[in-house]
Amino acid sequence: MPVSRRTFLKFTAGAVSCSAFTGLGISLAPAMAQAEILKFQKTTITTTVCCYCAVGCGLLVHTADEGKGRSVNVEGDPDHPVNEGALCAKGAAMRQMAENKARPPKPMYRAAGAKEWKEVEWDWAYAEIAKRVKAERDASFTLKNSKGETVNRTETMVSLGSAALDNEECWSYQAIQRALGLVHIEHQARI
Ligand code: SF4
Repeated sequence: MPVSRRTFLKFTAGAVSCSAFTGLGISLAPAMAQAEILKFQKTTITTTVCCYCAVGCGLLVHTADEGKGRSVNVEGDPDHPVNEGALCAKGAAMRQMAENKARPPKPMYRAAGAKEWKEVEWDWAYAEIAKRVKAERDASFTLKNSKGETVNRTETMVSLGSAALDNEECWSYQAIQRALGLVHIEHQARI
């Protein structure tokens, strides 16, 4: 039976862990096996790319309830040519981006001059952002520069973000910004 790199690493990692405790006269094999079963039971594995930096390490995301539930585990993809299963500390903590009780579940808004942030509804936030973007774009849009050359741009608006986006999302995002006429478009992963 052919053994993939992913399968090989999974079993050798388990063997090394077990043998370390076996040296102390303690067998963790049943507990580890049970933990592995619980962690991966009915999970769906999806491949993705780490969004934190330009290295672009590959990840495996285990999602509960046969892919309909929440992520239960994220780890390096041993078959990915960039990282071959390894991850730095940021990538290894990737699951916290989606599964984190410390993250506010709704947008937080602080009005101009206000001291406190308040929770607002998503629909209100989307509508407010769209309204303000349109108003600023309409007010600042420049058809021609001082030489009479067509520029079709706005220079009073900037875009910064987002390191939480993958390549495809970044492409869609910048395309929308350029369609609006923005020329100051930056990604904070480069800063
Ligand atoms: S795991 Fe670390 S090195 Fe790899 S892409 Fe993510 S941040 Fe970059």
